[in-house]
Amino acid sequence: MEMTRRNMVSAASFAAVGSAFALGTSPASATGSNPRALLPPMASVPQADGKTLLTPNQALERLQEGNRRFAADQPTQPDISVKRRAAIAASQAPFAVILCCSDSRVGPEQLFGAGLGELFVVRTAGNYLDTAGIGSVEFGVSVLGAPLVVVLGHERCGAVKAAAAVLKDNVALPGSLGPLVEPIIPSVIDAKANLKPGDDLIETAARIHAKRVAKRLKNTPDPAFAAPSSAGKLNVVAAYYDLDTGLVEILDV
Ligand SMILES: [Zn+2]
Repeated sequence: MEMTRRNMVSAASFAAVGSAFALGTSPASATGSNPRALLPPMASVPQADGKTLLTPNQALERLQEGNRRFAADQPTQPDISVKRRAAIAASQAPFAVILCCSDSRVGPEQLFGAGLGELFVVRTAGNYLDTAGIGSVEFGVSVLGAPLVVVLGHERCGAVKAAAAVLKDNVALPGSLGPLVEPIIPSVIDAKANLKPGDDLIETAARIHAKRVAKRLKNTPDPAFAAPSSAGKLNVVAAYYDLDTGLVEILDV
């Protein structure tokens, strides 16, 4: 394929910002020689009228239990059986909506040990919500009846690193990468202003960003969120995934 001048410029720009946007590499995980058995799937989630019966707290506890098993290298076997597939073929009743980064290392079903039909997932690099994202979360809550929304940031997020590079060096990101990271910049500014000695700017910004997005959803006047929230039927939380420990920490919003 012949490379046009525009493509060449674009490729050069990508190379220039490569280090800014490159996703960090996690330390090699310990790989024991003994294969460990997967724990059986967690008990199925009770439902009525095609919706989950879990409360927001129960949904969060279930996610945390799945994550504890994952972090302890005793992950839950996701229920992807033919039986399960058949059971949910006609309809779905996820018990949580997860908004997380597109990063290949933070797949929510794996982190939380969830199977088919359990999580309604919205993913964008940097876990920010545009209109389509908000509409997707709203669909999970108001149509599918999920009682919990988790906004999940993570360690060594490439999108947050890129936002920090734009702020620090005024780097011009090519294509749609600029608009992608732009909404993260206020979180980096906030992190810089409140950075404590010893804190890492990128990790602090990733935490602040997850909280900002969660707060935005929590405080939206949209009745799809406001009505179930005030009735205690919906909770929105922020969380942070540590690539090294495998643990998801729930953050105060
Ligand atoms: Zn990320």
